[in-house]
Amino acid sequence: MSNGEFLRVFIPDRYPFAMKSLAARHHLQIGIICRLEIDLTSCKQSADLDSNRPKNAGYNIRLSLIIQPASHGAPLPRIVIADDDDDIRSIVELGLNAFGFEVFAAPDGEEGLRLVREKKPDAVVLDLMMPKIHGFAVCQAIRNDPQLKGLFIVVGSAKAYAADIKKVKTLGANIYLQKPYDLQVLADTLRAGISQIPASATAAAQVSAPPKKPAQEVSIPTTPENSLLQVKFWGTRGSIATPGRQTLRYGGNTSCVEVRSGNSILLFDCGTGVREAGMGMLREFQKQPLHIHLFVSHTHWDHIQGFPFFTPAYIPGNKLSIYSLHGTDKSLERIFTGQMDSTYFPVDLTDMMAEFKFIELEGPVQIGDTTVRHVYLNHPGVALGFRVEHAGKSVVYVTDHEPYYRLLGDNDSSHKLDHEIDEFARGADLYIREAQYTEEEYPSHRSWGHGTWKDALNSAHAAKVRRLFLYHHDPMHDDESIDRIVESCRTYMRENGMTFECYAAGDQEMVSL
Ligand SMILES: [Zn+2]
Ligand SMILES: [Zn+2]
Repeated sequence: MSNGEFLRVFIPDRYPFAMKSLAARHHLQIGIICRLEIDLTSCKQSADLDSNRPKNAGYNIRLSLIIQPASHGAPLPRIVIADDDDDIRSIVELGLNAFGFEVFAAPDGEEGLRLVREKKPDAVVLDLMMPKIHGFAVCQAIRNDPQLKGLFIVVGSAKAYAADIKKVKTLGANIYLQKPYDLQVLADTLRAGISQIPASATAAAQVSAPPKKPAQEVSIPTTPENSLLQVKFWGTRGSIATPGRQTLRYGGNTSCVEVRSGNSILLFDCGTGVREAGMGMLREFQKQPLHIHLFVSHTHWDHIQGFPFFTPAYIPGNKLSIYSLHGTDKSLERIFTGQMDSTYFPVDLTDMMAEFKFIELEGPVQIGDTTVRHVYLNHPGVALGFRVEHAGKSVVYVTDHEPYYRLLGDNDSSHKLDHEIDEFARGADLYIREAQYTEEEYPSHRSWGHGTWKDALNSAHAAKVRRLFLYHHDPMHDDESIDRIVESCRTYMRENGMTFECYAAGDQEMVSL
């Protein structure tokens, strides 16, 4: 038979097609596109398609497909199809038969895997959302079975999420076809895969991710007040976001502070507040390419959880430099990649189109005229505080820190370590310092890695800072609790001769230095 000819196929009744709809549309698109046409010469009228046909009758149809000439004498390539959709399974079975494949069909993953092991096919066509065993697991089981080495795997699914397609490829599938897929593309793909030649361009196009646009030249925007440090709080809550009526004034977003320093945009932590920080940048700069410097104190959820929602990271042409330390058992990049693993998030880190650079800090960072230094904090895992200096102004960011004396006791060695933090904050124009607990709350949270508002005040006083902003508010503290804490702070300051300004940081609050 030559290309372009119609192939006449008899479909017995046992194939559960929606034949009436097929007759009406002269083609079928139910998960696969197979361009079936009713051979109307054999169906005298549409009544033939109704239920008064004799039992065990069938339909003559024509496959208007371009077909490869069948190879005479050679054994047919063997295919297993596993799909729980009866219509799709039947059509693929039928169509591939017509294309010269020997086909074995299974209605679920378990049966599909059994058939694969029994029939030793050349290729398998897998659905994903199948009963008994999901397509992911079938794919994985095939790749883990040395007896099935080299088996060509096509996954055909209605799942359109990039994360799923990536996952399928990670698990070892050769080709992913988005349903509805073209029967001819499937046949071409199988033929190409079995003979180990590159799959057809059509099939390949269905699986390749969109190419990343080349990075453009980045021009860093100029802030309105070029020589100043400007600080904006986007998230001031600790531990977990706490939206609601009780936190309207101070806000419920977790850690994120933006610092505009000369011509540079710096972010400190990317808790849930970073989503709005990103929206703010887009409103302000629109399509202007940005280079954003993100300093991450540590990678506990409340400090990174907003990152997947940071829109500028998805925009080609933007640059994102991410600074922190190597994690306890994995690299900084791996931690960020892990957060966006498909188990936790539908979009992969590689889908973010900005240019990324992960920098594991070894010393001070110079960004234009701005210097950022870091210090170790006392917190489970690895945690850092940061100090930004620009044009004679300074901002210090110390969150998630439990003073050493709290755990080590009042002694020289703990005082020395606490003194180092105070020195790090020495003379800061703005000291952003965690103050998660009250003295009453602290004992039941000892060794959780946080301190109290008194610790923040004592450190600010020792460091002779100009302004203290209490930060990383406990989720249990509503607006009124925070007001009371600020009142207590002011009383404590009066009693102890402390003269710096003291405020509780609130989301969206801005400070110019
Ligand atoms: Zn935290
Ligand atoms: Zn933490």
